[in-house]
Amino acid sequence: MNIKATRYDLIIVGGGLAGSTLGMVMAERGKSVLIVERERVFKDRIRGEGMCPWGVTEARELGILPLLFQAGAHETRWYYRYFADRLFDQRDLVDTSQHHAGWLNFSHPKMQETLLAAAQSAGAEVRRGVLVTDVTPGLEPGVHLSSGGSSELVKARLVVGADGRSSVTRARAGFEILRDTPELLVAGALFENIPVPEYAVHNVLNPSIGQFNIIFPIGGNRFRCYLIHRLRNESGCMNGEKNLHRYLDACHATGVPLQWYRDARLIGPLGNFEGAFQWAECAYHDGVVLVGDAAGASDPSWGCGLSLTLRDVRVLRDQLKATSDWHAAAETYARQRTGYFDALHRIHDMNRELLTETGAEADARRARAFPKLMEDPSRRPDFIGIGPEAPSDENARRRFFGDD
Ligand SMILES: Cc1cc2nc3c(=O)[nH]c(=O)nc-3n(C[C@H](O)[C@H](O)[C@H](O)COP(=O)(O)OP(=O)(O)OC[C@H]3O[C@@H](n4cnc5c(N)ncnc54)[C@H](O)[C@@H]3O)c2cc1C
Repeated sequence: MNIKATRYDLIIVGGGLAGSTLGMVMAERGKSVLIVERERVFKDRIRGEGMCPWGVTEARELGILPLLFQAGAHETRWYYRYFADRLFDQRDLVDTSQHHAGWLNFSHPKMQETLLAAAQSAGAEVRRGVLVTDVTPGLEPGVHLSSGGSSELVKARLVVGADGRSSVTRARAGFEILRDTPELLVAGALFENIPVPEYAVHNVLNPSIGQFNIIFPIGGNRFRCYLIHRLRNESGCMNGEKNLHRYLDACHATGVPLQWYRDARLIGPLGNFEGAFQWAECAYHDGVVLVGDAAGASDPSWGCGLSLTLRDVRVLRDQLKATSDWHAAAETYARQRTGYFDALHRIHDMNRELLTETGAEADARRARAFPKLMEDPSRRPDFIGIGPEAPSDENARRRFFGDD
């Protein structure tokens, strides 16, 4: 094994939204940064392509908003919600969200290519097609790289695990992982030619069967679509094009009008993911810090992962900027992360209980909550507009469920 003499300020494992953005902002501050990314070319992994307004605010703070537009981002100002096939709410997000932003939707692979190139232009060293196989925590943490049959150990002041939901960094550095028992399945696919307005994100709810659909226009008549349904219902898993008819049947059962998919064409993979939170109990120890999905992935059903990822990057950046004691900085970041991650978790759990649980008790809960929510929408914590700072305490819970 080759041991490299260079010691970086930061080695970042993973060139996704988290790794590229952090690499870029730290390189801009003159730090020596190595980003290691296993993929030579990014492909459609069925990942987040709809960034909600509070994430757009984070993107603005980090200075990546122009880069997202350069990657072809498509702004949707409106949020349409339907009960089965009845449109019941048209929300102008720019007018009504705290920071006056809409959804920002984009092709995930294009976003990754653009941000990783920007990190490189800012001065980060980027190595692609290189796999991180091991991480050694400690005073001078190191990362084992593997590429084309050779391996190498590189060292840094701080190692950052930005390697996603199945993080090797997290596993190899010995972080303790917690997981909710999954109750939902998220099936995702990319279509073109759905006859809905491209200026709105469309959310079709059918709580009585515990399902909903969400459609993000990503520009150019292309749509990232998700079906969220109960893990143990009869629709089951839907991996691969051979299951397209099952996906479409389940969408129609939710209430999506038949004509929406009549002339639509599948232009990417169809895949399934568990809808559940999983997270590291603490996002820092011994010279290794975790960001984005590696630190903790929210349930993708609720579309906040991209925003949460950018929140992590901003908070960590600000802490690393504030002091030369990076151990203390990373500890403070990890503490703050636990706070906002837990808050988002509570809010998403409330939504899961109200919108996707089935049975007599769940129906009775909805019968109490829905009339009050319709009359006073402020009862619903606005996690799309505000994010984790939306109210999530006991009082907020009582108001949401109409138990006050
Ligand atoms: C089905 C689904 C739908 C979603 N929908 C939404 C949505 O609508 N809105 C939203 O906001 N969020 C959504 N998300 C969440 C969002 O995609 C993630 O939160 C976000 O992509 C996390 O970014 P990241 O940079 O932390 O991780 P990733 O995007 O996973 O990036 C990790 C990078 O690390 C690289 N890597 C991994 N292991 C190694 C290794 N050992 N060595 C080197 N490189 C490595 C990978 O190749 C990858 O490029 C969704 C997620 C899923 C699963």
